[in-house]
Amino acid sequence: MTVLSPHLLPAGVREALIAETAGLDSLDAWPHRSLQCLARHSLLGAAIPAEFGGRPLSPVESVEWHVALSEACLVTAFVLSQRDAACHRIALSSSSELKSSLFPRLARGDAFATVGISHLSTSRQHCGTPAVRAIPTDDGYRLDGSIPWVSGARYADEIVVGGTLADGTQILGLTPRTVRGLAVGPSQELMALSSSHTASIELRDVFVPNDRILAGPVAGVMKQGPAGTGSLTTSALAVGSASSSVNRLLGEASRRPDLEPIAAALAMERDEIFHDMREAAAWDAIPPKTIEQLRQRANSLVLRAAQASLAACKGAGYVRGHPAERGVREAMFFLVWSCPQPVVSAALREFACVDGLT
Ligand SMILES: Cc1cc2nc3c(=O)[nH]c(=O)nc-3n(C[C@H](O)[C@H](O)[C@H](O)COP(=O)(O)OP(=O)(O)OC[C@H]3O[C@@H](n4cnc5c(N)ncnc54)[C@H](O)[C@@H]3O)c2cc1C
Repeated sequence: MTVLSPHLLPAGVREALIAETAGLDSLDAWPHRSLQCLARHSLLGAAIPAEFGGRPLSPVESVEWHVALSEACLVTAFVLSQRDAACHRIALSSSSELKSSLFPRLARGDAFATVGISHLSTSRQHCGTPAVRAIPTDDGYRLDGSIPWVSGARYADEIVVGGTLADGTQILGLTPRTVRGLAVGPSQELMALSSSHTASIELRDVFVPNDRILAGPVAGVMKQGPAGTGSLTTSALAVGSASSSVNRLLGEASRRPDLEPIAAALAMERDEIFHDMREAAAWDAIPPKTIEQLRQRANSLVLRAAQASLAACKGAGYVRGHPAERGVREAMFFLVWSCPQPVVSAALREFACVDGLT
């Protein structure tokens, strides 16, 4: 078994996350203890600037961190990635007051934030009308509509929300979950990751004052700054999830020589993608095509590794609660989460054997 990036996730923390992960597979659970464990070890600051109590990582470390985290527990890694996406958007804003009041609490694990922004990029793009309308007022914006996906919504103190103005420009704002007019829907029972408590949110004339507007109004607000859809984080989470399947397979192969070449081939592919992601992260600017190709490769690997692990574990792996069946369900997540259209198309072509990966 290879543990990727052991220097970023100390063994004790990794073991604690792995011990928790089996219980994080239903609506009855939330990764509270895992997040608290990370907080106790000062590991919640990766997306928070140092002057506000964070411990920012270099781009290469960030890839390593996300791989290590999702290898240990995908639910925790995913929930934290949404919180970190909120942190990125706050960090990119010009509001030093928001940063100094919120970041130290987020870094200590005393507050939780999340994002409801996919309706500006990957969700509801075929609908003729915006999911959330933003109407300017003298001192801010009024938001009306529904946000289809918000993970950890019911546990969030603050939510980054997006809206579209009449002229097509967009804004991002930060709003407390308890603000008047905001209603969190019931958490969805999902194929996997139900413990992420992903829900829709209704906004009825929700007021966001100007000092809580994080970005915009501007065309394509999600393309501003480095935290756009399809960044390396999503691929890193896929590679971490793939790695836990590969490690399961390597464990089986240690007792069953016939599995050795299969496990070795998948382990080599995992190591190559991990290497290529770290190499790309070290560049000053990563071409969008490279980000897309890495996501395609990570998606393809996570699906195949999970299926190989299930096949190796045989019928025992098909029983509800076995890590192999859970791995297959979790791998499917990467087909739908923050998946840009070219990556979806590549996956569909791969399934239909229409042509190659690129
Ligand atoms: C578990 C989970 C957690 C998530 N958490 C978050 C989060 O915390 N924050 C966040 O911002 N986002 C989140 N997302 C959103 C995610 O990043 C994607 O935006 C989302 O998965 C896209 O799926 P959709 O069903 O909304 O897509 P849509 O494109 O809206 O598709 C919905 C349906 O519309 C129909 N349709 C699609 N395209 C067309 C077309 N061209 N013509 C006609 N009909 C069409 C299809 O029937 C499809 O099933 C989450 C998603 C998942 C699955």
